[in-house]
Amino acid sequence: FYCPVGAITENSQVREVSNLLKNKNGKTIVFQTAPATRVAISEEFGMEPGDISTGKMVAAIRKLGGDVVFDTNFTADLTIMEEGSELLDRIKNGGTLPMFTSCCPGWINLVEKDYPDFIPNLSSCRSPQGMMSSLIKNYWAERMGIKPEDVVVVSIMPCTAKKDEAVRDQLKTEQGLQETDYVLTTRELAKLIKLNKVKFASLKESEYNNPLGESTGAAVIFGNTGGVMEAALRTAYEIALEKPMPTLNYTPVRGFKGIKEATVDFGGIDLKVAVIHQASNIHEYMEKLKNGEVGHHFVEFMICKGGCIGGGGEPKSKTSDYLEKRMKGIYKIDDDFKIRKSHENEAVKQIYEQFFEHPLSHKSHHLLHTHYKDRSEKTSQPVKGGFWT
Ligand code: SF4
Repeated sequence: FYCPVGAITENSQVREVSNLLKNKNGKTIVFQTAPATRVAISEEFGMEPGDISTGKMVAAIRKLGGDVVFDTNFTADLTIMEEGSELLDRIKNGGTLPMFTSCCPGWINLVEKDYPDFIPNLSSCRSPQGMMSSLIKNYWAERMGIKPEDVVVVSIMPCTAKKDEAVRDQLKTEQGLQETDYVLTTRELAKLIKLNKVKFASLKESEYNNPLGESTGAAVIFGNTGGVMEAALRTAYEIALEKPMPTLNYTPVRGFKGIKEATVDFGGIDLKVAVIHQASNIHEYMEKLKNGEVGHHFVEFMICKGGCIGGGGEPKSKTSDYLEKRMKGIYKIDDDFKIRKSHENEAVKQIYEQFFEHPLSHKSHHLLHTHYKDRSEKTSQPVKGGFWT
């Protein structure tokens, strides 16, 4: 079976990870868990879709033998700092618009294979998974006095396309080490937990390790369609206008409509944004964009219905409203957070003060950004004069 966007690949690494956890051979095993995993894994253990199992999931990973558990939400916050700054820079300095989000590897595959003329529109930010693995191997390991080759990164994702992303040449250390060693889907983690007879439902909650485990409400909403956009707006608005958005819950980008559009008053500039999920809607939008029928500054794309909560690696639910319930669970986590804006994450502030200096710095370009390749089979077609040209 061939999936054109690489979102469906059958490459389970449950056995390898299981063996590794039993025989570590002196390696430090570091896990990271994506936003959408925490509202779905509970379904594998008799609970309802949308039930929040963050602490139990972390506890289960520790029980399995994970040495350190970081939260991909930390790098979702970092993504907002980098991507929001990149957007403002492109608008100010006449860069390529619309800018496209880059955290969905299924979408990246689609651009590289079907829409290579639009590669310059992609944000250069790595996905939160890519940023976290890079930080673990290139930043955290050194601070802990561990050689990067003695660290194994295991990523827990709602997504099968992240397995494909992990082996990209662009996401290797300077020494040629793969930064994300293994990717297990939410379902595969549940399988590992069951294989080891860990009683998930009765586990006492555990917390992430710090500093790469601290996050905000803005980060967790990456799991829902519209979440990256909403999180980016919360930060970009405040940076550009030096005051918070009138409302943090920006409802025009929420919900299941396939193509959502909104205009935000950015103090003199009408910032036009769009949010698209599911491949059919993406193709519809891209055709309109090629024909100059739409014009936005910033567009979020997610291949799966509902965003990552509908990812191919999430549990197969038996209820019809499971996506709505997972979506609600994500927004509940956001609502319950005291800090709901990425730029207010103290650990993010610290990493800029102590290491990156500022967003889009030389160091952040090196460790947090990437580049893309034209992988189309045919010579690409010229763009027919878009809205911004
Ligand atoms: Fe993966 Fe789907 Fe999320 Fe894209 S939308 S990152 S393919 S789970």
